[in-house]
Amino acid sequence: MPLHKPSSTPWESEKRRTNVVVIGAGVVGLTTALVLSRSPSLRVTIVAEHFPGDSHPMYASPWAGANYLPFSQRGTLEHSLERDTWLPLALLASELPEAGVHFQDVILYTRQQDVARGLDSSLLSNLHSPDPWFKDMVPDFRLLDPTSDDPPDTAYTTRFKSVCINPAIYLPWLHGQCLKRGVRAKRATLAHIHDAAAMFSNTDTVVNCTGLGACSLGGVKDETMVPIRGQTALVAQEASHMLTVSGSEDGNDSELTYAMKRAGGGGTVVGGCYAPTAFEDIKKAAAPDDHLARRFLHRWVKYDKVMEGVGLADVIEHRVGFRPSRKGGIRLEPAIIDGLKVVHCYGHGGYGYQTSWGCAERVRQIVVDEVKGTKHSHRLSRL
Ligand SMILES: Cc1cc2nc3c(=O)[nH]c(=O)nc-3n(C[C@H](O)[C@H](O)[C@H](O)COP(=O)(O)OP(=O)(O)OC[C@H]3O[C@@H](n4cnc5c(N)ncnc54)[C@H](O)[C@@H]3O)c2cc1C
Repeated sequence: MPLHKPSSTPWESEKRRTNVVVIGAGVVGLTTALVLSRSPSLRVTIVAEHFPGDSHPMYASPWAGANYLPFSQRGTLEHSLERDTWLPLALLASELPEAGVHFQDVILYTRQQDVARGLDSSLLSNLHSPDPWFKDMVPDFRLLDPTSDDPPDTAYTTRFKSVCINPAIYLPWLHGQCLKRGVRAKRATLAHIHDAAAMFSNTDTVVNCTGLGACSLGGVKDETMVPIRGQTALVAQEASHMLTVSGSEDGNDSELTYAMKRAGGGGTVVGGCYAPTAFEDIKKAAAPDDHLARRFLHRWVKYDKVMEGVGLADVIEHRVGFRPSRKGGIRLEPAIIDGLKVVHCYGHGGYGYQTSWGCAERVRQIVVDEVKGTKHSHRLSRL
């Protein structure tokens, strides 16, 4: 066999790769690191205070439901990110059971009183719209008149198939996929975004996927971040379908009703609430509220009659997390901070899973364009 002189030695090609450091190992940081690692020209390192397996109120990803139910308005950045995340999640559900993502039938109950009040003012207005942008994208979409099985105040139901993600399986799976592709991982708490570059020689770009941490990270200190409290209960009983309801008579506007069965024996997650919380109150607010859990379990069994009798005594675990919300929505853009190239990707609120693959691909485009020296406009197109 003739000997060919290799065009470059492994260490030479290694030297030519561009070093990118991703801060954050939530669903956004891990998905971004995985997508970046598919570019042969990039060498990717994750630095994070928390990794899958950890549990902390400032680490949102393990607390999520999590499902794919689009909230975004047509024409927004979030719309394009949710749209671009559907296919990767549906492929995982179809082809890789080990990722912990599965398909489930969805029923959205839209109540007469919420329609009368005007859905527009509601957090769930786009999801519960009779003409949502995702109707031609998700399988088996139907808008139906109420039947005698539905609660009497139902105006209409929306049915389709979507996916539910079990974070206890999915986050370690993402982490493992990163390691398999040669992504390095280092645990550290950074005081300043420049510390990420200083930890590794020749860092070209830092990707900021710090979620709520963006509020206190030096060089970023984004004061528009708002933690949004979410409480859920895990029960062993398996819901027949995933559901949400357009409103609730209980408590104030922050109370929600939703449920989803998780893949891989994950039981059913029932929620919930959507309560803006001050950063200084997070520690206190991280304690579960039994009264709230009793109310949302009670509402759930009204909508999923097969679950009649399920209540507080069936709860395996009460869970409280804080969605990393940002006034103005997700920040996804390149920036220069004291000479350091940064791509921001944080502020995913209650939709970090359902925008994750769309975000990761946008970040990859920005990083690769910068590496190639393509002039980047520093403004992302909205769609
Ligand atoms: C109850 C609940 C239900 C939800 N349901 C859904 C759902 O059904 N569908 C959906 O799409 N989304 C849902 N979400 C929202 C989703 O969980 C979040 O949008 C998502 O997890 C955000 O991911 P992230 O990676 O941006 O942030 P995080 O998961 O919070 O990760 C942030 C990472 O940055 C690291 N970090 C921060 N600061 C620093 C620092 N200074 N130094 C080093 N590391 C740092 C942290 O340690 C961590 O690794 C839900 C959230 C909650 C709480």
